[in-house]
Amino acid sequence: MHVALIMAHPDDADIYCGGSVAAWRLMGAEVTILIATDGSKGGNFNPEDLAKLRSEEAIAAARVLDANLIQLNFPDGELCQSEEFSVKLTTEVLRLKPNLLVAHAPNDYHVDHRAVSSASLIAASFRAPVLWVDPMMGNDFLPNYYVDISQFQDLKEQAILCHKSQGPGHFVEMSRVQGRFRSAQCGRLNGFAEAFRHDPIHPFADIRSLIPPPPQLKPIVVNSST
Ligand SMILES: [Zn+2]
Repeated sequence: MHVALIMAHPDDADIYCGGSVAAWRLMGAEVTILIATDGSKGGNFNPEDLAKLRSEEAIAAARVLDANLIQLNFPDGELCQSEEFSVKLTTEVLRLKPNLLVAHAPNDYHVDHRAVSSASLIAASFRAPVLWVDPMMGNDFLPNYYVDISQFQDLKEQAILCHKSQGPGHFVEMSRVQGRFRSAQCGRLNGFAEAFRHDPIHPFADIRSLIPPPPQLKPIVVNSST
């Protein structure tokens, strides 16, 4: 199995689904992270220097998660104006032949993320299903898949901390809050989970075999004497 994550910025894969990358790897899946932009607008640095720095940070983080990395280096903040991006992404998907695409949700808060979402659907076409990642703090996102990342939260934090130029402590803290909340939604208060959404579409109505295990749900015990 091959999972392709299509993410807008160099730290997105680690922040939004770093734990699930580790879970897919444990399932034996190959994971390829495609980063659409060079991240050159993510801070008060010289854009060229920042792009170089963020590229090195992404390489280090992908190594932590044992994932392949492809950096497409489109200009940060300008994805929605780029017709070339959609063509390039489709070419990459045709080449990689992933069984599952993971991308930002269509209603994500960030314009670059929404551009990734739309281009991912075009690139996937009938070739593979698309799974949406939980946006920052989960605003207006109704998940229908959860992945138990309790055993991978430490690794996820190590990957996030590789992005030193982005003040990563803040993102580690947010990932803890959101991970706890998503796990608690499944009935496990002391775990961590990442949430996803798949909108069933022909011919991908059932994608359960492609998703790592959810938090263990508490079974309902039926008392036969009542
Ligand atoms: Zn981003």
